[in-house]
Amino acid sequence: MVMADTRGAARRRQLVVGNWKMNGSRAANAELLAALRAAGPWVAEVAVCAPSVYLADVALSLQGDSIAWGAQDCSPFDAGAYTGDVSAAMLAEFGCRYVLAGHSERRAMHAESDQLVADKAKAALAHRLTPIVCVGETLAEREAGQTEGVVKRQLSAVIHTLGHCISQVVVAYEPVWAIGTGKTASPEQAQAVHAVLRSQLMAASEHAGDMKILYGGSVKPDNAAILFAQPDIDGGLIGGASLKAADFAAICRAAH
Ligand code: PEP
Repeated sequence: MVMADTRGAARRRQLVVGNWKMNGSRAANAELLAALRAAGPWVAEVAVCAPSVYLADVALSLQGDSIAWGAQDCSPFDAGAYTGDVSAAMLAEFGCRYVLAGHSERRAMHAESDQLVADKAKAALAHRLTPIVCVGETLAEREAGQTEGVVKRQLSAVIHTLGHCISQVVVAYEPVWAIGTGKTASPEQAQAVHAVLRSQLMAASEHAGDMKILYGGSVKPDNAAILFAQPDIDGGLIGGASLKAADFAAICRAAH
């Protein structure tokens, strides 16, 4: 059993990030953000990751607010013949703070490898964006007893590529079987994997005690507090519930 990091938890400010995925419209986004601005601020840090086409709107809507914003993906390259892609340099120009790297939907639907995810995280860091690197096992992998091996392999590519800069990354543990399914990992299941990830990070960086490891997968207002109370869970990456202002605000309130 991997020991929990109980000392670091006290000094880590939690982070709650909304992942809108491919949802929204200019009008719906404006309404959602206005409601969130009215509901905040929160003790925890809060951010939303919107589809690329809306990022300039989101940046304007959030001007002067403590809610940060991020993108859902970035290219591993700075510029060039990469039709359809958006670079970290472009995102940085708009004031972007976070970028998701290796969300399971991109790993599965766009065949993103562990190394590509690591290269995207590296490109983000080169432009002072904070990558939120997502790792997580499928149901088949969990049932085959491979959870630890899978998440360690995914994180290890990022550690190897970033070296000592790994401490600037946020990690999100998102069991694939819990994303959008309504099946949340139990607090004990989630904490066990977070402790494994923390100890892997500890072996790579002396600053790992300050790093945030988020949990994602069907987090809702009624299960957020118990998940966020676990010693190695430092907040959440929220999909479906981040599209409803009241639910997302309640989840943000549950974090500290
Ligand atoms: C996600 O998309 O990262 C996610 C965790 O989705 P959901 O909260 O809907 O499970």
